[in-house]
Amino acid sequence: MKIYLASGNQHKLSELTIALQQAELDDCEVFSANLIGGMPEVDETGDTFEANAIIKAEALRLQGPKDAFYLADDSGIEIDQLNGQPGIRSARYAGNNCSDQANNEKVLSELKEVPEEDRGCRFRCVLALMGEGLTKTFSGTCEGTLLREYRGSGGFGYDPLFLPKESESTFAEISSEEKAKISHRARALRYLMEYLRERLSLN
Ligand code: IMP
Repeated sequence: MKIYLASGNQHKLSELTIALQQAELDDCEVFSANLIGGMPEVDETGDTFEANAIIKAEALRLQGPKDAFYLADDSGIEIDQLNGQPGIRSARYAGNNCSDQANNEKVLSELKEVPEEDRGCRFRCVLALMGEGLTKTFSGTCEGTLLREYRGSGGFGYDPLFLPKESESTFAEISSEEKAKISHRARALRYLMEYLRERLSLN
């Protein structure tokens, strides 16, 4: 089984690649989109994480071998006080092609008056696996609090503002190994692995 990763985001790629390699699935090889022309530009026109993950996986599938599988990630942060925003618009919350810093500053300013106890939020990740005649999605969440100040220098996106329930440290303060145990992506990956193990054992 050959799986091509349908993402141009280096952080996501490394989290997905490490998880799939560590799973040591027999007869499963993971490849970069660069081997088949690179991740194409896509318009994320879906109104759910599922729809957008499928759009990305399908876009890469159209330019790769027919008998391979394609894995895409759509993810974001949902802030309770903002009625679940930025959600699917997390990457472009402060404008198209904006920086992580601009997105973080925007949510910080929108939550300026919101007290600690009302700053609940969650990261959500949906992985879409596509192959000929196959479309499957796997979803994971990680609950936490949106801090008032940045903490830590690791990770990406909203990591320095996100304090997960399971930890005293933000996603930008913990190691990538620790994030790979508790994150939304890690949880979605667990469901994906279960599916892959079952599928591979049937072949
Ligand atoms: P996507 O590429 O359209 O799926 O947008 C994902 C966006 O959600 C990223 O650009 C980040 O802003 C945010 N995001 C998703 N996962 C994470 C994470 O693990 N840490 C921090 N931010 C994340």
